[in-house]
Amino acid sequence: MQEETLSFQTLGLSDELLQATNEMGFEKPSPIQAQAIPHLLQGLDVIGQAQTGTGKTAAFGLPALELVDVTEKHTQVLILCPTRELAVQVTDELRRLAKYKKGVKIETIYGGDSIERQIKALRGGVHIVVGTPGRTMDMMERRALKLEKVSYMVLDEADEMLDMGFREDIESILEEMPGERQTVLFSATMSKPIMAITQKFQNDPVLVKVTRKEVTNENIEQVCFEVKQRAKAEVTCRLIDSYDLKQVIIFCNTKRKVDEITEDLMIRGYQAEGLHGDLRQAQRNNVMAKFRAGTTTILVATDVAARGIDVSGVDAVINFDLPLDEEYYVHRIGRTGRAGRTGKALTLVAKDEKFRLRQIESYTKVRIEKGVIPTFEDIVG
Ligand code: ADP
Ligand code: MG
Repeated sequence: MQEETLSFQTLGLSDELLQATNEMGFEKPSPIQAQAIPHLLQGLDVIGQAQTGTGKTAAFGLPALELVDVTEKHTQVLILCPTRELAVQVTDELRRLAKYKKGVKIETIYGGDSIERQIKALRGGVHIVVGTPGRTMDMMERRALKLEKVSYMVLDEADEMLDMGFREDIESILEEMPGERQTVLFSATMSKPIMAITQKFQNDPVLVKVTRKEVTNENIEQVCFEVKQRAKAEVTCRLIDSYDLKQVIIFCNTKRKVDEITEDLMIRGYQAEGLHGDLRQAQRNNVMAKFRAGTTTILVATDVAARGIDVSGVDAVINFDLPLDEEYYVHRIGRTGRAGRTGKALTLVAKDEKFRLRQIESYTKVRIEKGVIPTFEDIVG
């Protein structure tokens, strides 16, 4: 395939969708889009494997929008996502892509938001439903969501959904659906449980794989700082100041730590807000909206809360704690350096975390450069 000459036009998309991709500033399809879209438009099942920030949403979203018949009221597309934030994000991207295809109704269904409102929305006729597996099951059981006429089904971030324990829900949902449908599965990693789902529910799928040798993205500059546990908050502030960071996500391993660090940063005069699973959905939406708008500079989050979040201008990710799992490191730093931009991944390493850093390095096959902690003079000078 000649990448240089490849355009959205040559993929066979309709004018309404081309106009939207154009307006969104997409110059050409990303590799996963270029490979997956033609198969999907042909009606084939696809397994897509690609790292975060590679444009998977449009890869499955554009063919979905192509397929929707707006003259029919029933639900034609179902997209399952691991978290509420991700479902909202996918919905937003789909709505933008659907801008010139008039009359496409897209709704998000997720726990935490008013169930009555969501039921009402579904009753009004929705072409594309984007939901978390739990709430989707709930809606099916209440007969508010009917899947008999779904012809295109997406499992987005399938590995995450399985990790989060949604396997049974996913299987029940898939079993309820008509056999005559397209099933698309996207995942950053392939594992046995994923392959099992694939074998059971997909029909002769095409595997589309876009992986580099390194699991991390080369647009991300990775630096680590050796620092005493109790000095981490201070060092975080110095890094924010010396790198002049405008939009940064700080990762902690626990909800308690998130609250603690958020408060510490606020006391030090930074615009920080915490994001974790104990917050009510309205609060989470509010925190995300402010972070996106740039009203808050710093988002302090746990892994689960920040999964899949796509804010395009994030200039750095700070690992306040080292993640307990190497894959989380990859997910975390994938929040920056998105869509061809550069980003920084700054990792604070206390003595007892050094072994974890080495595990991460061997997993990602990248040597993480050791940085020098900025001094007070570096910042005020
Ligand atoms: P993934 O699901 O693979 O992590 P997303 O679908 O969230 O990635 O896309 C990441 C970002 O890249 C989004 O902001 C999206 O609008 C943007 N994007 C997607 N496709 C393109 C493209 N072809 N050109 C430029 N930007 C794109
Ligand atoms: Mg995605």
